[in-house]
Amino acid sequence: MKRIVLASSNSGKLREFQQLLASVGMEVVLQGALGVPDAEEPHATFVENALGKARHAAMRTGLPALADDSGIVVEALAGKPGVHSARFAGEPRADDRNNAHLIELMRHHRDRRAHYYCVIVLVRHAADPEPLIADGRWHGEVIDTPRGAGGFGYDPYFLLPSLGLTAAEMTATDKNRVSHRGIAVQRLLALLQGRA
Ligand code: IMP
Repeated sequence: MKRIVLASSNSGKLREFQQLLASVGMEVVLQGALGVPDAEEPHATFVENALGKARHAAMRTGLPALADDSGIVVEALAGKPGVHSARFAGEPRADDRNNAHLIELMRHHRDRRAHYYCVIVLVRHAADPEPLIADGRWHGEVIDTPRGAGGFGYDPYFLLPSLGLTAAEMTATDKNRVSHRGIAVQRLLALLQGRA
């Protein structure tokens, strides 16, 4: 099995990617387990942040590296919080404060459209000129009253009108099948298998 480092300290992400990449003969290791600290995420685009994180991990470990970056993009707020989703209400990152801030900003907006976005980048080495890049979007609406106990982040406020459910009311399996991250992961797998 070929080892690959995941540029994250999130063990939930590790499990998800481990499962995905086992089918293409890769063993995934968290960068934290190799003594690599989290990289900065200073860029204005998701893809630059993901690429920066992947390069940082590849440079520090000498291994191929995988990184993702994601967030929620709200139409009425001109795309905010976007790349700042994790820290929308400032430091330290906290889902409840981020959600309260979002709902307060949306108070007078009738346009409730939003989408989640996720991009995944894989580099074979730190100077890889041809990183694999896969992304996914999941469209929905921001609601004022939270519903559901599953998921994380903005999920209780993210309604899928066609399903009549918030992302927090879906099972993890159902969410992964249709979510921004699920789509990005499937596209990455297709790239790795040479199908896209
Ligand atoms: P990062 O990808 O770890 O930088 O985190 C992105 C942030 O976007 C998270 O902390 C959440 O606030 C938000 N986010 C990304 N994906 C989701 C999701 O599937 N559900 C809810 N919030 C999400």
